[in-house]
Amino acid sequence: MTQPLTHSARLGIVLSAQANFYRVQLAVGDDDGLPQASLLCTCRALLKKTGQQVMVGDRVWVENLDWADERAVINAIEPRRTQLDRPPVANGDQVLLVFSLDEPALDAHQLSRFLVKAEATGMAVHLCLNKRDLVSHGHQQAWQERLNQWGYHPILISVQADRTFPTLAPILNRGITIISGPSGVGKSSLINALIPATDLRTNRVSGKLRRGRHTTRHVELFELPQGGLLADTPGFNQPEIVCQPGQLGQYFPEIRSRLETGCCQFGDCLHRDEPGCIVRGDWDRYEHYTTILQECLTQQQALQDSADPEAVYKAKVDSAGKIHHEPKLPTKKYRRVSRRRQQQALQDLRYELTGSTESLMNLEEQDWDTP
Ligand code: GDP
Ligand code: ZN
Repeated sequence: MTQPLTHSARLGIVLSAQANFYRVQLAVGDDDGLPQASLLCTCRALLKKTGQQVMVGDRVWVENLDWADERAVINAIEPRRTQLDRPPVANGDQVLLVFSLDEPALDAHQLSRFLVKAEATGMAVHLCLNKRDLVSHGHQQAWQERLNQWGYHPILISVQADRTFPTLAPILNRGITIISGPSGVGKSSLINALIPATDLRTNRVSGKLRRGRHTTRHVELFELPQGGLLADTPGFNQPEIVCQPGQLGQYFPEIRSRLETGCCQFGDCLHRDEPGCIVRGDWDRYEHYTTILQECLTQQQALQDSADPEAVYKAKVDSAGKIHHEPKLPTKKYRRVSRRRQQQALQDLRYELTGSTESLMNLEEQDWDTP
């Protein structure tokens, strides 16, 4: 819902958010002669009252501009194109997954999990393999060929040896890119190399609120010199995948392409041992698919059990996405939980943990520094 705006309102993008302050970069391309600037903004009370929470990446209208103090007030939020909840970023365009070829060595299972998680956001997924300098040409080529079979075209770089990254530039120079990947692969080094003149902390809301990069609870966008914004996310090693078992196949390009050319005998085929399945087979990641599928099925079962009034244990999902079983406290009366509520619970869980773009807004400040 757009608020009534005065002629002095300016459109900007939220680069960082902390407490009740937002750093807003005014949109480029306005030809009204006013200076481009990044302003420290508060948010109009009415937005909060109407349940609208400003997110990093939001396009917002600001008013009450005070050029001397570089302050303004956010008056309205433009509708979002996409929304991620972990990390909380609005209007993300693509995910850049960064892995290293060595130190730490590339682990196919771990990569697969990150890929599935990235695919689940619904954004375009790009893969970058760093530390090319540490491995032989043959090793690089072998990974390249293997990943092509997975349906990806990795960009191989060495942040240490390369001065420029011409193959990355066309991807990063537009829209908002969310960088993700395990720790130690060179994400911070890459961001520093891409934005040489910028101290990674310069976008921070204020010196007082400044915290260490890797302990920070908030996400922020960094501007690339040639355009485009980068969202840096804290590293985590094994992203937990929570999704409806029937949806998992969509997150594997190999399965998507098989289903484009034909279909399984059963519409709800999970591609395990069903007759007439065209997906099951001797392809590289089939085993990754069945492993992750089993996890999704276990999670679904745990959730259904916890909704089952006869169950003694209930499943609880912690902030890291792990499922714990706790003894159920006696309830007042057994009450049948409707199938709709079970489905809703599953959906909520999926949205919370996969950061689905369809998810409804849930932006309590939360720590997504998953161990
Ligand atoms: P992050 O945890 O993903 O942000 O990784 P960092 O940027 O902190 O890098 C982890 C380590 O890898 C550091 O010691 C970097 O100097 C090193 N590193 C980064 N890029 C390269 C590279 O291209 N080659 C080599 N050999 N080391 C690199
Ligand atoms: Zn099938």
